[in-house]
Amino acid sequence: MNRELHICHLYYDILNLYGDNGNIRTMEKRLAWRGIGSKVTRLSFGEVNRDDDYDIIFIGGGQDFEQTLLLEDLSRRKGADIRAAIADGKTFLCICGGYQLLGHYYDTDQGRMEGLSLVDLYTEQGSPRLISNVVLESPELSTPIVGFENHGGRTYINHNQPLGKVLFGYGNNGQDGHEGVRYKNVVGTYLHGPLLPKNPQVCDLLLGQALERKCGDGALTPLPDVEEREANEY
Ligand code: GLN
Repeated sequence: MNRELHICHLYYDILNLYGDNGNIRTMEKRLAWRGIGSKVTRLSFGEVNRDDDYDIIFIGGGQDFEQTLLLEDLSRRKGADIRAAIADGKTFLCICGGYQLLGHYYDTDQGRMEGLSLVDLYTEQGSPRLISNVVLESPELSTPIVGFENHGGRTYINHNQPLGKVLFGYGNNGQDGHEGVRYKNVVGTYLHGPLLPKNPQVCDLLLGQALERKCGDGALTPLPDVEEREANEY
């Protein structure tokens, strides 16, 4: 079977803090270097495209104001499709604001933002903002996950599995030592940077699971990753 992945970038023009768009470019490049095709569809406010069968859905981060703007669009136009895609085992990468919106709610000084309740988690705004470089340890990966966080929200993931254990930085809420969430084939995380260029193992984990689901073959040829590993170590 011809291996090609179709990536959907949701709210590419509204949620794109700290180079989050670079995550899409990293996925495209790491597929192309292995001779695997990819197609990217960008969907923003008010746009729906049900004809396309996406394999990976990416949502970036934003400020509270931007998150508020798209709440109605998210729940009314896209919520049911996102719910079905998660249940169907599609791969999701949701950063910061995108991560918070997967949960039940995000409470702020300005009121409650209702989330999609797709993952059992919730977020409450706190003070001060949690701003730091971050290093995580993940049991599945041989190198640490590194990135940068800047969020007012404190996220609580209940009984879900975290993305990693915090070695440096704050993580989900600065208290429980957890960062991010793993649920089905969804990864939610506060890490910008962007995340994937400096963490090629995380990128390959996502690509591998999407290929496995689509073609029954998630094997990926190893890449040299010289600069990527140097960036990660730095
Ligand atoms: N606005 C959210 C918060 O401050 C998310 C921030 C972000 O996406 N970096 O918690």
